[in-house]
Amino acid sequence: MGGSSRLGREALVVGGGIGGLAAACALSNHFERVTILERDEAPDSPAVPRPGVPQGKQLHALLAGGHRALDELFPGVVDDLDEAGAPRLTQGLDLRIERPGFDPFVQRDLGFYSYGVTRPQLEFCVRRRVEALGNVRFEAGCRVLGPVSTTDERAIGGVRCQRAGRSETRSAELVVDASGTGELTLAALRATGHTGTAGVPETTIGVDIGYSSAVFDIPADASRGWKGVMHLPDAPRTSRNGLLFPVEGHRWMLALGGRHDDHPPGDEAGFREYAATLRTRTIADAIGPAKMISRVDRFRFLESRLRHFERVPSFPGGLLPIGDAICRFNPVFGQGMTVAALQALALAHVLAAAANAGETVESVRRPFFEEVAAIVDTPWALAAVPDFVYARTVGERPADFAASLRFGAALTRATARHADLHKLVAEIQNLMRPRSALREPQFLERIMAEMAS
Ligand SMILES: Cc1cc2nc3c(=O)[nH]c(=O)nc-3n(C[C@H](O)[C@H](O)[C@H](O)COP(=O)(O)OP(=O)(O)OC[C@H]3O[C@@H](n4cnc5c(N)ncnc54)[C@H](O)[C@@H]3O)c2cc1C
Repeated sequence: MGGSSRLGREALVVGGGIGGLAAACALSNHFERVTILERDEAPDSPAVPRPGVPQGKQLHALLAGGHRALDELFPGVVDDLDEAGAPRLTQGLDLRIERPGFDPFVQRDLGFYSYGVTRPQLEFCVRRRVEALGNVRFEAGCRVLGPVSTTDERAIGGVRCQRAGRSETRSAELVVDASGTGELTLAALRATGHTGTAGVPETTIGVDIGYSSAVFDIPADASRGWKGVMHLPDAPRTSRNGLLFPVEGHRWMLALGGRHDDHPPGDEAGFREYAATLRTRTIADAIGPAKMISRVDRFRFLESRLRHFERVPSFPGGLLPIGDAICRFNPVFGQGMTVAALQALALAHVLAAAANAGETVESVRRPFFEEVAAIVDTPWALAAVPDFVYARTVGERPADFAASLRFGAALTRATARHADLHKLVAEIQNLMRPRSALREPQFLERIMAEMAS
């Protein structure tokens, strides 16, 4: 990343997940020292999931927008993924997409790729790149207990933390909350009296999705016309879905999901049976002869949550949240890590702009929150409309819900027909372009024609 002018001496990042690692890179150009405080120990192998990221045992798709953002922050990190054996998935071609009415959807080479990689492997590659940055330190085994206010109690001047049984206070000009939970930011807002009685405005969608993931050896003799499968449910009749992805080590990772009282089970026989109930036999037949080489790990995701920090009338100085601390998505579309990486890239840009203009670090908050709101708009909307197809989803339906459904159905049909629209939709789904690109006349006209037919 460009620019090396200083905005401060010390920056702290709370949490060493994808958001924290990427944020540390953004900060490293503008602070003398950046320290990542992570409660977990850092695994010295790419095969070890961490307790602090329990979802890391589930399939974690890395969208093309995500690996591109990470590669902009850490030039060469995609080479590390290649070296680690993470398969490239040519969009439109390598993943067999199954959706009602299209089993499978039209397969075409859309000219770009995403990666199949496990979460621990991705984090390992990114952490190694962070450790190579001269002024960033990764302090493992350090649990942050809470924020420390400045003497005037209007801003955050550091954190209290615990390490090897000892409590200490760490000071910094900027604290980035990449804890996933955002508890630190909420505590800071309370401590500095900034939220008042209303709290932080947030939008939630109660989805109650159960996931089960397991890893398989890919049978050696298999000849198929795909590398992975994305099976979307016939909603609202059923919420059962499946995502079979190739990952490093010539393995498949299969995630099965279902909502409310239809969560997939955690035993091998039940897991295989659940796969066999999907609308097509593609996944069940593929894993039939494949050896399961992990246990089945389960995860329950209750609600998506978007915190509108940009609407908090006065936000404390010295603090920025990032990643899941701001927005936690229904994981079905594999967006969370990509959004965290895009936010870190936005942070890098606003820090560089502030440094170039000779402004202070305080000036980055407003443009950062504006960028975050723009980044989050597309992935939130992509996930929210399908969620509300289910009657038991809790939350406020989009006002134009029925129209959105009709638009979505027409878009799917038009996408099957037109290669350029297919490419655009895949770019939007991979968070490379905003959903507003669909309004460009050459695309909108064809979607409208489909709606009218
Ligand atoms: C079931 C499931 C499947 C998912 N699948 C995908 C997918 O396919 N693709 C995708 O992109 N995303 C997926 N996600 C979302 C993804 O996991 C998150 O969006 C992403 O991890 C957010 O990164 P983060 O850095 O903000 O938070 P996290 O990755 O949660 O990292 C937070 C870090 O902070 C540390 N921490 C927390 N509190 C403290 C403290 N007090 N002191 C010190 N350290 C602390 C934690 O140990 C952790 O390391 C999925 C999520 C779930 C639940």
